[in-house]
Amino acid sequence: MFKCLFLFFICPVLFLNGFLLSAQSFLPGQTYYGANQYIEYHPGTLPIIFSAPHGGLVTPSNIADRTCNSPTVVTDSNTSDLAMQMDSACLKAFGCHAHIIICNLKRTKLDCNRDVVNGTCGDPNATQAWNEFHSYVDTAVQEVLKKYGGGIYIDLHGQGHPIQRLELGYLITQTDLNRTDNSLDTSANDSTFSMRHLLAAHPSALTLSKIIRGPSSIGTALAARGYPSVPSQQDPFPAMADPYFDGGYNTNRYGSDNGGTIDGLQIESNFTGVRDTPGNRKKFADTLISVLHTFLDTYDQFSPLNLGTCNSVLTDAAGPAKADVELTLFPNPVCGSVSLRFSSRQQHLQIRCIDMTGQCVFELNAGDQSELTIPLQELASGCYFLNLQSEAGLFNRKFFITPH
Ligand SMILES: [Zn+2]
Repeated sequence: MFKCLFLFFICPVLFLNGFLLSAQSFLPGQTYYGANQYIEYHPGTLPIIFSAPHGGLVTPSNIADRTCNSPTVVTDSNTSDLAMQMDSACLKAFGCHAHIIICNLKRTKLDCNRDVVNGTCGDPNATQAWNEFHSYVDTAVQEVLKKYGGGIYIDLHGQGHPIQRLELGYLITQTDLNRTDNSLDTSANDSTFSMRHLLAAHPSALTLSKIIRGPSSIGTALAARGYPSVPSQQDPFPAMADPYFDGGYNTNRYGSDNGGTIDGLQIESNFTGVRDTPGNRKKFADTLISVLHTFLDTYDQFSPLNLGTCNSVLTDAAGPAKADVELTLFPNPVCGSVSLRFSSRQQHLQIRCIDMTGQCVFELNAGDQSELTIPLQELASGCYFLNLQSEAGLFNRKFFITPH
């Protein structure tokens, strides 16, 4: 009993402190800068992170030009603004900000999509900016994990290849993309793949080829809406003779090829009609966010914290969320099992239990019951959220403690 009481008092305090600290550090809608404003971070509350490492134009004389290892120094024109358009599109679509990280240094001075050695060529000021860029992305990743348990990271680039299309990079090599779906899928574990988390989350419904060029893939949806994309159902693979970017350092570092629950994608956009004018950037951003919304919904990636609840995710972290369905949870602290009682009989209620690191520890379908008891003897002692969603997207959340 003493332990129950101890946990009851200590857990909310610990969590509140963490929440307040992070909320004070990075407020959505504000802009945060590294030294000399070389790097900027626009924090959000969605589980969506965009970065633009190659759109910068600033060339300070106190940073040496990169010359090590024959670097590529081409600027991806207008991709910084494209990233901000993605944020505007998110705000319009969801009512919340995405996380945006932008490098303002020209690529002749710094490449944030390379490892630190090649990206900075050893220049100390470039190294500081490189560290700031990745520290901001790391911050965004931690925020996303804390609020949602997973998310999506997109690294925005521009390509100047002859074929006018979006090159979507999932870390799958051009050679592998030229294989049949069956060949790709049967050896999916041998390929590098930046959406490995999504694949693992839906082992029976999804295959690698479905994710990258199936009917519900991002490429197929973009192509159908006037943005030719490879890979997609319409254009399944880049011919070996055609140049193609399969994803770089950032997609590898922040995607899920090496584990984790953030799926990654590199988008190399062609110039004309996509990033050439403010109007075209806005139109492309609105389209991509709409496509992304459908993609995330299709695979139920962040249910039940569905994206429309991003505001309440931010503001009610330690208390009940907007209570569309009244939910009574008892006893609390929990000892052995917990009972739930709903205000009304709901259809297809999904329940997910989230621990303090943002990981889902169990989920279950409550069917259409108005009351149920969940045994929790197997749950480690600690603090948890119980999240609740119906098909209509109704949302409620309770905080509970399980002492043993
Ligand atoms: Zn680039």
